[in-house]
Amino acid sequence: MSVLVWIEQIDNEPVPSCWEVLGKARELAHQMGTQAAALVAGQDVDAIAQEALGYGADTVYVADSPVLARFRLQPYVETVHQALDAAQATLFLTNATVHGGTLAAMVACRRNAGIAAQAVDLHLEDGRPVATRAIYSGNMLADIHFESDLAVASIRPRSFPMPEPGPAKGTVVPLEIPLAEEQVEEKILEVKPAEKGEISLTEARIIVSGGRGVAADPAKGFQLIGELADVLGAAVGASRAAVDAGYIEYKHQVGQTGKTVKPDLYIACGISGAIQHLAGMGQSKVIVAINKDPEAPIFERAHYGVVEDLFVMVPALTEEFRKRLGKG
Ligand SMILES: Cc1cc2nc3c(=O)[nH]c(=O)nc-3n(C[C@H](O)[C@H](O)[C@H](O)COP(=O)(O)OP(=O)(O)OC[C@H]3O[C@@H](n4cnc5c(N)ncnc54)[C@H](O)[C@@H]3O)c2cc1C
Repeated sequence: MSVLVWIEQIDNEPVPSCWEVLGKARELAHQMGTQAAALVAGQDVDAIAQEALGYGADTVYVADSPVLARFRLQPYVETVHQALDAAQATLFLTNATVHGGTLAAMVACRRNAGIAAQAVDLHLEDGRPVATRAIYSGNMLADIHFESDLAVASIRPRSFPMPEPGPAKGTVVPLEIPLAEEQVEEKILEVKPAEKGEISLTEARIIVSGGRGVAADPAKGFQLIGELADVLGAAVGASRAAVDAGYIEYKHQVGQTGKTVKPDLYIACGISGAIQHLAGMGQSKVIVAINKDPEAPIFERAHYGVVEDLFVMVPALTEEFRKRLGKG
């Protein structure tokens, strides 16, 4: 028996939130008296397998094949299916990224298993896993109990602390995946890499977001927001109003129909604080709001609020942080 964690990699770089999930898997496996196992799939992924051992996996299953070089659902579901059998897993965990969330759902279908999508916590009751999900825009927490022998959950990034890596101990077990390229129905025609140095919204520790408040000069507004983000090493987010107006691409949207984020610091600039926006960022540790309107609802959720024009406040913050962080 084991708890199996899928280690997502993109261009052979592991996605950090997987280590958070592995850290939790290790804790649960310990309480269940079983093993924490990891699945690393890709091409030339030995280094990631060693890293997974360092982050506490007792066993790492490695599926190394050109077919798995980039994420595609069909071969990855097949790989997880094999790994679940090899590991005799009773709990399968992924990070709730686009790939992780889809993979968890398809694996649950394939194995006829119960799934908790976008879980924010996990614990045991009577030795069985229970997953916690945030519902009603994060205003309530719901516990999901599993009736199936295999439980599947995708975990929101930054739900658990990042464990400290140690020396690699444990075993690496190669997996044979009986799938040739001709059998894979999904073909990758083009890959568009993210802009250089772009920080993933869901993994970011700091996010600076812009809303319709930039409307007076959207290009300038998001340039100022981008500069503040650069100084802080932050990702850039946006409200749906800003995305719908064409000020910024959809991939930056935070909220009910965008990304769910949980940074240590969320700076909302010219965002009113609609419930659908709060659904995506309300769990941030510290929320700072910059808004001209002292009655804006965002101030009810913000830990710190500045009633000011963002075109004045954002560059002033950038300048001050530059000085204080020695980036001048
Ligand atoms: C089904 C559904 C799903 C949705 N999903 C999402 C979602 O995923 N994400 C999301 O964000 N929204 C979502 N929405 C839309 C949501 O209801 C709001 O319309 C949207 O969040 C508003 O964006 P905003 O705060 O940027 O704009 P507004 O509500 O127009 O707020 C703009 C704010 O900027 C302030 N402001 C104006 N000028 C300045 C200035 N110069 N300096 C400082 N402040 C200024 C104003 O006082 C105001 O508070 C969804 C709606 C529906 C119905």
